[in-house]
This record gives sequence, structure tokens and C-alpha cells, in this order.
Amino acid sequence: MTDPRRLVPRTDAVLADPRLVQARARLGAAAVKQAVVDAQARARAGELAPHAVADAAVAALPLRATTLRPVLNATGVVLHTNLGRAPLSAAAVEAMATAAGFVDVEYDVATGARARRGRGALEALLGAVPDAEDALVVGNGAAALVLATTALAAGREVVVSRGEMVEIGDGFRLPDLIASTGARLREVGTTNRTHLRDYADAVGPQTGCVLKVHPSNFRVEGFTSAVEPAELATLDAPLVVDVGSGLLAPDPLLPDEPDVATALRAGADVVTCSGDKLLGGPQAGLVLGRADAVARLRRHPLARALRVDKTTLAALEATLRGPGTPTWQALRADPERLRARAALLAELTGGVVVPSDGAVGGGGAPGLALPGWAVALPAAYAALLRAGDPCVVGRVERDRCLLDLRCVPEQDDAVLARAVQACGS
Ligand SMILES: *Cc1c(COP(=O)(O)O)cnc(C)c1O
Repeated sequence: MTDPRRLVPRTDAVLADPRLVQARARLGAAAVKQAVVDAQARARAGELAPHAVADAAVAALPLRATTLRPVLNATGVVLHTNLGRAPLSAAAVEAMATAAGFVDVEYDVATGARARRGRGALEALLGAVPDAEDALVVGNGAAALVLATTALAAGREVVVSRGEMVEIGDGFRLPDLIASTGARLREVGTTNRTHLRDYADAVGPQTGCVLKVHPSNFRVEGFTSAVEPAELATLDAPLVVDVGSGLLAPDPLLPDEPDVATALRAGADVVTCSGDKLLGGPQAGLVLGRADAVARLRRHPLARALRVDKTTLAALEATLRGPGTPTWQALRADPERLRARAALLAELTGGVVVPSDGAVGGGGAPGLALPGWAVALPAAYAALLRAGDPCVVGRVERDRCLLDLRCVPEQDDAVLARAVQACGS
């Protein structure tokens, strides 16, 4: 009798299977070979018939060349930090794909000469914020702040209120960040109250800049006072305002969120924010402000180390010029529509429709509830849905798994319903 293990096909024979040849072009040789080697091992162990090795390898291929998995965000949290914050608009995705190859990011096709890098994105940014004289794009909001404090205050002092010495998330502390730039923090005021005279007493020849930070992720209530940018702008020092969330202009939906245009109009020299929070674009740090101040930042050697790639510039421009972002839509989702969608999902899955408050997330607008509806399922569904394909992330609350459709694109409702049904079977 021949040992069945000897019938296991050789690696190169299996790799010649047309399906695996095709997969190699899409996923890379290593991933395909690994799937084949694993299938052969199973055949040798007797778990698989030798002739089924190629089929098993095909079935076990990874879906894509990245291990990042798309997720249906059914948490109701719009800017979910762990889920990548802002989802990009179709226009931004297309722009990124277009920019992925060779592209005139820094080239003038009319003259054949070098051109200003990312000029289209910068023009779009200045078009969106006419109060800004100039703009700059770096890797993220933290990088924008590092660049501003380094260029304006390295070796000197950054004057900042004790009420604004914030930790953003994941242990990221603003004071530590600023200290790392070689600027010295000059803290003024107290946790709950800081006055203009506190700043005025601290500003002097050692001052590099005055910094105002929006304490995005918490609120101080009661006996409090803070100094607005308009007053800080009267001090004899450059004023940097970190508005955080990337709201370019006031939004009545988010009355407590500061915006870039208002800070500039109040007299800020430099305003920094993120691209992938309320703006709904790619991860980026935006710097907008007075021409001379932005030029100081642009000329600093650190600017080169913090610059963004062509796909980010493309996505940012498309976000600014294009249609309303998914973030914008999720924030404004009509509660009645959410209720109707939830009712259908509940009917298809045996869940129960319950009221559900969504949240802005991403450390923005703490305490602001976005009224809506969710489908409640037994808590055990949460883990099953996360393990499924597509991966669905719900919110576990009071021993129930809530699926809030606010951040689920409506065209994915049917897919979501099938994912839930698959857990129940
Ligand atoms: C989010 C935030 C940052 C950090 O921005 P990233 O884009 O996450 O680096 C800095 N300051 C404030 C006020 C923020 O809200």
C-alpha cells in the first residue's frame, strides 16, 4: 500500500494552478505559497484528500494584500479612533487611487518645471477658509502643533493655560509633546480659571508664542473662566490656536466646537487642526494663518520631516472640493430614517428597536448626544459579529449588543442584516 502522504502534490505543481497564479499577482508570492504549504500539511496529516490541496489553498487565501480589515461601524460613534476616525468620501477614495501612480504633485506639466507641492490641496484649503492668508499640510494634528511650537518657540517659552494642559488620548499629552520640541512650557492660571492678566504677566522677551488649546475631550463646569483668542491676540506675542477637530467654519450642530475661521478672525497667527476629525478627510494636520507666520513654519527643516504624501494631498483636496463627507452625513443622519432602517433590520434579525444616542467621538464634542435608534441583540452577538465577514462592530451596553446604523452606509444595510442572520444560524 502506498503511503497517502506520498500522493500529496508538490508545491510547484499546486502553485501552477491558474487560480493561484492569478492570486500571486494580486496578493504576492509569499501569501500564496503559505496557503499551499498549509494545505499540504493538512493533507499529510490526513485532514484533507491529496487531490483537494489546490482547492483548500485557494479557499484559505487571504482576501487582500493587507491585514487591515474593513469594518462596518455599528457603534454610533462617528469618529471612532480605533476604527480609523473619518471614513473617506467616494470622491476622496477615487482621488487617492488616481494619485497612487505617477502624478504631477510637484510638477508643472505645461512648462515641465518643478511646481509647488500639493498646490491644488492648498488652494482648496484657502478657498474653504478665506480668512487664512496661507496654509500648510503635515502628517496629523500633533505634527502641526509640534511644527508650530518648534518654529515659533524652540529655546523659548510657550505660554499656555493650566486648564489646557490636556491629554488627547492613548497617553498622548500635549505638554509632553511641546516639551519634546525644545520649547519651555510657561503655565499660567489654574485648572478652572485663567485670566488675560495671567498671560500678560507671563509674556516677555522669552516668549516664543502664546498657545490656546481646545480641550476637546472634556468639559469643565462651574466656576470657570478662559481667555478667548480675540483677547489673547492683543498680547505682544504670536498666537497659536489648536482647535483640534478641524471644523473650518462655525457649525450650528456643534455649538461648542471652535472653528478655524473664527479663530483667525479673532486674530490668531496660526491655527492648527486635524484633517480626519470633523473635516471628514484623510489623516493630516492643517496649519492655516498669517502669511509670515505660516512661512516661518514652512521654512523650518522639521516641515520636510512632517510632510504628507501625494495620496493624502489628493484625498484632502477631494474632501474640501467634493460632496458632503460620510462624517458630515453621519452627524446629520435623520433620526426617523435611522428608526425606519433599524425597524427593518430588527424584523430581519429578531432584534428589538431601542433609542440610541450616537456620539461625535475622536475626542470631539464630549457630552453631545446625537439622538437615533439601534437594534438590540443578545450580548453574545457582539463577538460573533466581530469575527464575521464582513466584520461588524457594535456597541455593548447593559448586557446587550446594540447595532446603531448612523455610521453604516445605507447601501450596506442588507449586508449587515445577512451578517447578523449568519450569527443566529
Ligand atoms: C485631536 C487633537 C489633537 C491631535 O490631532 P491628531 O490629528 O490626532 O494628531 C491635537 N489637539 C487637539 C485639541 C485635538 O483635539
